[in-house]
Amino acid sequence: MQKEVKEREIKEKEVKEKIKPELLQPDINIGLVGHIDHGKTTLLWRLSGKWADVHSEELKRGITIKLGYANTIIRRCTVCGYLTYKEKCKCNNKTEPLRHVSFVDAPGHKMLMASMLGGAAIIDAAILVVAANEPFPQPQTKEHFLALKAKGVTKLIVVQNKIDLVTKQEALEQYKQIKEFLMKNLSEDIKEVPIIPCSAQQEVNIDLVFEEILKLPKPKRDLNASPVFLVVRSFDANLPGSGVENLKGSILGGTLKQGKLKVGDIIEIKPGLAITKEVKHEKVVEYKTLKTKILSLRSENFELEEALPYGNLAIQTALDPCLGKSDLLAGSVVGLENSLPEVTNNIKFRAELFEKLAGMEKEETIEEIKPNEMLLLSVNTAVTVAKVKQVKKQGNEFIIDAILTIPIVPLPDSSIGIARNYAGQWRLIGFGKLELK
Ligand code: GDP
Ligand code: ZN
Repeated sequence: MQKEVKEREIKEKEVKEKIKPELLQPDINIGLVGHIDHGKTTLLWRLSGKWADVHSEELKRGITIKLGYANTIIRRCTVCGYLTYKEKCKCNNKTEPLRHVSFVDAPGHKMLMASMLGGAAIIDAAILVVAANEPFPQPQTKEHFLALKAKGVTKLIVVQNKIDLVTKQEALEQYKQIKEFLMKNLSEDIKEVPIIPCSAQQEVNIDLVFEEILKLPKPKRDLNASPVFLVVRSFDANLPGSGVENLKGSILGGTLKQGKLKVGDIIEIKPGLAITKEVKHEKVVEYKTLKTKILSLRSENFELEEALPYGNLAIQTALDPCLGKSDLLAGSVVGLENSLPEVTNNIKFRAELFEKLAGMEKEETIEEIKPNEMLLLSVNTAVTVAKVKQVKKQGNEFIIDAILTIPIVPLPDSSIGIARNYAGQWRLIGFGKLELK
């Protein structure tokens, strides 16, 4: 094991010396969305060389249940100009690195909409995968599309996948349908969405997908603001049996939304650790802010001394590894010590509801939100159940007071995904914005 780690470190150092410092970190998070089985995971593999659903539970269930990340450095062949992530082109010549991007594989299963919404808080652009051999649009394709639109993700690439399974005529027919759907559903400023026919499995037109990715603008971020890092996953990276001397602290994976983080920074994690207590025979959960130090920073392929607010990032903390295991800290927010606002269970937010419930075979009208009903809210990367206290209507909008089961860090500009339970499943009904009190 130690030998493999050493070899990896040497390889990493070699690669690091060959690329420009600005390419060490990805500069954009691109979400992969679309109906289940349309080929997201296969496309991600073609774009990055990695399989996203490596977790056995996910493999067993055949669906991607947690947000997976894969980073790619897009390279161009110095001779034929072909785009690939490989260091050697298929024409056998060298390629040179152009851009480092991060893919976020959002789960396609309808029950997992909540984590898809969490994902939308951290994606700057999206690839919507549509299977060419199925009628368009499939319910989830539409639901994901609406989610992206409502979250304000306006940079979109549509990949029309599995063209190897249809005739040219059929592919063209569906291409037209996608185009019409986009024209009808997109606002004026984002009419220009490229549609790329491709076959992820047969490796056809993957270079054209890369070409479109290269055109995506780098998101605007405030580098000088106080850092805010949204935790998507947390884990214990220690292998069973690795000695105490090699023990690593809890790892936090996620996205730095603003500011910079450095190795050695003292950070706080909120709401942090859930502690269950018994008060008068009733279970009460309290949250404890965690304070720790950054031991190392990593952007998938490289160690960093300082991280900028782009792409995905892993922070190794000095926390006991068991505090972060199995995503215990997912949904938390990280900032410098004493910099984050107080957490709260009481929130006020503005909401706008969709007209119809997408993502179902038969589209249902969405009823207004009522006092005392339970909703599922996603606020940044946190997901929590909320009980509605009060609802006021203002034009098309609702102003809602709610009590949350899990407290959140009330950050300015937090967008909220709202889901309601229909026959045991949380379905997206609209979006909101947090009002700061
Ligand atoms: P996901 O659920 O959207 O992640 O879909 P997967 O990537 O798991 O693909 C679902 C199935 O479609 C798998 O059996 C893939 O091998 C297959 N598939 C993916 N892309 C293509 C393609 O371009 N052509 C064909 N024929 N099959 C594909
Ligand atoms: Zn080449």
